[in-house]
Amino acid sequence: MKLEAPLESIKGVGKILAEKFEALGLTTVQDLIYFYPRRYEDFSHVTAIADIAPGKVTLKAKVESVVGRYVRRRMHVTEAVLADNTAKTRAVWFNQPYRAQQLVSGHEYYFSGNYDLQRNRYVLSNPATEQVQALGVSTARIVPVYPETKGLKSQQIRKVLRELLPLINMLPESLPPALVAKENLLPLSETLKNIHFPDSSELLARAKERIAFDELLQLLTASLLNKQDNANLSSWRIPFNQTAAKQFIERLPFKLTDAQKRADWEILKDFEGGQPMNRLLQGDVGSGKTVVAAMAAFMAARAGFQSAFMAPTEILATQHAATLAGLLEPMGVTVGLLLGSTKAKAKAELKQRIAKGEVVVVVGTHALIQKDNEFNKLGLVVVDEQHRFGVRQRSELLTKSKNMPHMLSMTATPIPRSLQLTVYGELEVSVLNELPKGRLPIETKVVTPTARHTVYTAIDNQIKAGHQAYVVCPVIAQGANAELKSVQVEHERLNKSIFKHRRLGLLHGQLKADEKDTVMQSFKRGEIDILICTTVVEVGVDVPNATCMLIEGADRFGLAQLHQLRGRVGRSDVQSYCYLIPSTAQSVSRRLRELEQSNDGFYLADVDLQLRGPGEIYGRAQHGKLDLSFVNMADLVFTKRVRSAAEWLLAKTQLDTLPVLRDKINKYRRLTALN
Ligand code: ADP
Ligand code: MG
Repeated sequence: MKLEAPLESIKGVGKILAEKFEALGLTTVQDLIYFYPRRYEDFSHVTAIADIAPGKVTLKAKVESVVGRYVRRRMHVTEAVLADNTAKTRAVWFNQPYRAQQLVSGHEYYFSGNYDLQRNRYVLSNPATEQVQALGVSTARIVPVYPETKGLKSQQIRKVLRELLPLINMLPESLPPALVAKENLLPLSETLKNIHFPDSSELLARAKERIAFDELLQLLTASLLNKQDNANLSSWRIPFNQTAAKQFIERLPFKLTDAQKRADWEILKDFEGGQPMNRLLQGDVGSGKTVVAAMAAFMAARAGFQSAFMAPTEILATQHAATLAGLLEPMGVTVGLLLGSTKAKAKAELKQRIAKGEVVVVVGTHALIQKDNEFNKLGLVVVDEQHRFGVRQRSELLTKSKNMPHMLSMTATPIPRSLQLTVYGELEVSVLNELPKGRLPIETKVVTPTARHTVYTAIDNQIKAGHQAYVVCPVIAQGANAELKSVQVEHERLNKSIFKHRRLGLLHGQLKADEKDTVMQSFKRGEIDILICTTVVEVGVDVPNATCMLIEGADRFGLAQLHQLRGRVGRSDVQSYCYLIPSTAQSVSRRLRELEQSNDGFYLADVDLQLRGPGEIYGRAQHGKLDLSFVNMADLVFTKRVRSAAEWLLAKTQLDTLPVLRDKINKYRRLTALN
C-alpha cells in the first residue's frame, strides 16, 4: 500500500464510503493518516458502580435492559440499566433515539459521562459509549473522536484506520534522526499510531507533543527562510540626513519620548542597509506611532522617495492625512488623500500627480492598492493597524515598485511574544513601551445596567468641565435582540431626555463618507459634546479633548477591541474615564474585570491569547490557512525550543534531503512570504 493510493484501495472502503471521506477533504491514504482526532474520550479510568460519586465517571458495565420512548412531543428518552459485578445503575440519553438500537442487552460497554441528579435521582446522563470487544483486550481505552460528517461516524473512521496500522508502523521518519534524538521526540510512526490508537495517556501526550513540534517547526523554518530571502532582496538606500532629522524634531509641538526616538533610529538604520525593511512598530494606544512614521516618511521624502500610508478606515485615513499634512507640508512635502469615495475627476487628477511624483506622501485606504495606481518612486509603505490587512493585500502594494519598498507596519494590538516568533517571525519589531509624558492611566469601571444613570452624571460633569465624551453601542439599528443598544435608538433617546441640553453627534459605518467626515470634524472642533457611535472609532481616532467613554453591551466585544476603544480617551494629560456596561447584569465576564484592572495592552494581549486562542484574535485573513492542530500558541517556552530546532535544522541539514518536510515548509512559506 502506498501513501498516495486512493482510499478506495483500502480493504472495506467502497465507492460510497470513499465519497463520504471526500466530503471531509480526504482522498488518499496519506490524507487519512494525517487526519487528526478532534478530541479523545478517556475510558481508561474505570470506576466500579458501587464506588460512583457525582461528577464525570467512566463505567465498564453490561447492559441489562434498554428502552426508548417519547415522554413528550419532541422529547425522547432512552433509558438503560447497567450492571457490573459490584452494583447497578441507570443511564439516560435525551433525544438520541438510536441508542436503543445501538446498545445490545447482555453486551459490555464503556460508558463515559456525568453522573448527576435528574428528576430527583442520580443517573449517568448522555454518556458516550464504546463497545468493550471492539477495542480488543490489549488496545487502548482512550478513544479518538474525529471531526465527523453526515453518515460517517468515528467508529467507521477508526475501522478503516485499523487497516492502515501496518503501513503506519512502517512509516519512515520525516525529521533527521539526530533531531528526534536530541529533542527526545516520539518517532513518527509511533506518533501516528498513538494519535489514532493511544496505548496510554502518556504516549498520547507525547504523540501530541511530536505533532505540535512538527507543525511549529515547519512554520518557524518557513519564516526563517523567508527572512533569509528578504535579506537577499534589494531596496532603495535612503541615507540618514541629520539636518533633516533635526529640522523635523524641532518643529514638533512636543518632545519625542525615548521609545519614539529609539524606534525612529531603528527604522532609519534599516533605510540605509539596501535591503527592504520589514518592521513592525508595536505601541499601545496613544503611544504616538504616527509621528514615528511621519519622521520616516520625511527622511524618505528628503532623499527623493514617495511614501504610501494605508489605514483601515476612511475616517482614520482622513485623520492621518490631516496630521501628516500639518507635520510635513510646512517643510515642503506634499501630502495627498486618496479614498474609495474620492470623486472620479479628483481621483484621476490625484493619480496623475502621484505618478509624476508631485504628491510625495499618499494617504489612503484600500483604494491605494488598486492596479491602476502607479507611484513614481515608492520608497516606503506604512500600514497602520496592520492586523486588519490580509497578507495578499500587503503583497499587492509591494508590487507597485520596481525596487522593493521599505515596509513599516504599525499596530496597537500588542502581539504576544510567542506569536511574534511564529506568525510574525519574519518581522523585525520596534516597541513603544512608553506613553508620552504626563499621561494618566484611564480609570475603568464595570457598571451594571441599572446604575447607568450614575455614568450619565459622570459624563455630564466631564462636559461641564469642557471635555467631550463617546458613547459606543454594539449595533447600528435596533434588531430583534432588544437588549443590544443601537446607536440610532440611543442617539434619539439621549437627545430627547437626559442629554437634551447637550450637543450630540451620530457616527456609524453606514453613513456616507462625507457625512462621516463632517461629524468627525465637528467633534474634533469641539462642536459636538457626545459622540454616539459604533466601533468605527475603534482604531486610531485622535481627539485629545475627549475624556470619557461609555461602552454599551461591553460583553459583546473582544478584549483587544475594548482596549482599542478605550484608547480613544486618555490622550492628553487630563484624567480620563471608561465605563463598561454589559448587556445584562449577569454578563460581567473575566474580560471586563481584566480591563478594569489593567491599562497595559501587552498584558491584556496575553490574557486574550489565553482566553481565545490565536485563530480568533488574529483572524483567518491574517494567517491564511494555518493548520496547527496541537500547537498551544500561548506556550512561549515550547515556541522558543522549536525555534532553536528550526535554526539547527537550517544550519546542520540540507532540506532537499528531507523532501516530505521541505514540501510542508514550502506550503507555509507561501502563506507568509513578502514577495
Ligand atoms: P497611536 O500610537 O495610538 O497611533 P497617535 O500617533 O495617534 O497614537 O498619538 C496620540 C496623541 O499623542 C496624538 O495627539 C499625538 O499628537 C500625541 N503625541 C505623540 N507623541 C507625543 C509626545 N512625545 N509627547 C506628547 N504628545 C505626543
Ligand atoms: Mg494610531
